Amino acid sequence: MARPAANPQQLADDIIAGNRRALAKGITLVESTHPDHRRDALALLAAVMPHTGRASRIGISGVPGVGKSTFIESFGTFLIDAGHRVAVLAVDPTSALSGGSILGDKTRMQTLAFNPAAFIRPSPAGKTLGGVTRRTRESLLLCEAAGFDVVLVETVGVGQSETAVADMTDLFMLLLLPSGGDELQGIKRGIMELADLVLVNKADGSQLGTAQQTLADYRSALHFMQSRSAQWRPQALACSALHNQQIDAVWEAIQAFYAAMADADALAKRRAEQARSWMWSEMGETLLNDLRHDPRVKQALPALEAEVVAGRVPATAAALELIELFRR
Ligand code: GDP
Repeated sequence: MARPAANPQQLADDIIAGNRRALAKGITLVESTHPDHRRDALALLAAVMPHTGRASRIGISGVPGVGKSTFIESFGTFLIDAGHRVAVLAVDPTSALSGGSILGDKTRMQTLAFNPAAFIRPSPAGKTLGGVTRRTRESLLLCEAAGFDVVLVETVGVGQSETAVADMTDLFMLLLLPSGGDELQGIKRGIMELADLVLVNKADGSQLGTAQQTLADYRSALHFMQSRSAQWRPQALACSALHNQQIDAVWEAIQAFYAAMADADALAKRRAEQARSWMWSEMGETLLNDLRHDPRVKQALPALEAEVVAGRVPATAAALELIELFRR
């Protein structure tokens, strides 16, 4: 495989200078699992580090069809018109299985895709959510270094990907559909608890009344929910991504969030906690990977696993035995 970067320092300089091709190249480098590339990627990240941390990092989630890409198109265009530079990244753990990814479809976000102030990158493919998440986190840093001051990280409502995105962004936004009746949609409570901002999308046309009702339901639900931060009480808004309605109100709410989170260094603390937990998950991933590839473990694994599956050996005993093999 060709080495994508001749010199990580040169690449870092080009990224910091705002060169889009360099940014794309840098992201390709951090996405690579080749050991040589990994070394270069770490050098690249170290070089850009002083230029990171200045963007608003916003997570966006919601079930397929809720209007995420329509919203990102409309919100992104709104931000660019207001003078911002917007990068759009994604965490889609299903992309490895389906072969496609949520931002891979060229027909999505067409206006934004051709806007020079926007940068859109599909989810990296990966075998584990941890791997996909790491690469998106690193890409986020590169986008910041390249001068994008708003980074939107999209995810599909699958598995643990919402938690992963909430853990790498400042503000986690959940898009919901207008739903008749007063039942809260099949949204898992844990995901609601991650949300700093809830948006009832498609508040237009014949769905307007339903959307208003859904909004009222969520507002009262949020009222009784534990907030993630003492500084910020989660808010709910209704909008129409398709008709660009209330998009400015969404940005206002985000600004209010940042103003509130400046208090008592709440944002800095959230980011510090995220960095700490990222470090631990990196160690976990790396150790687990080493363990899986250890020849002694590899040799003993199939038989032991079969014993565990058959119920003849307790899982804890097998785990300990494999770890002992690895430590020797
Ligand atoms: P995603 O799967 O969450 O990315 O959803 P899309 O953005 O692809 O939108 C799914 C469908 O909902 C598309 O047909 C959109 O045109 C439509 N849609 C998105 N936002 C709105 C909205 O605000 N109002 C209405 N009426 N339709 C919308």
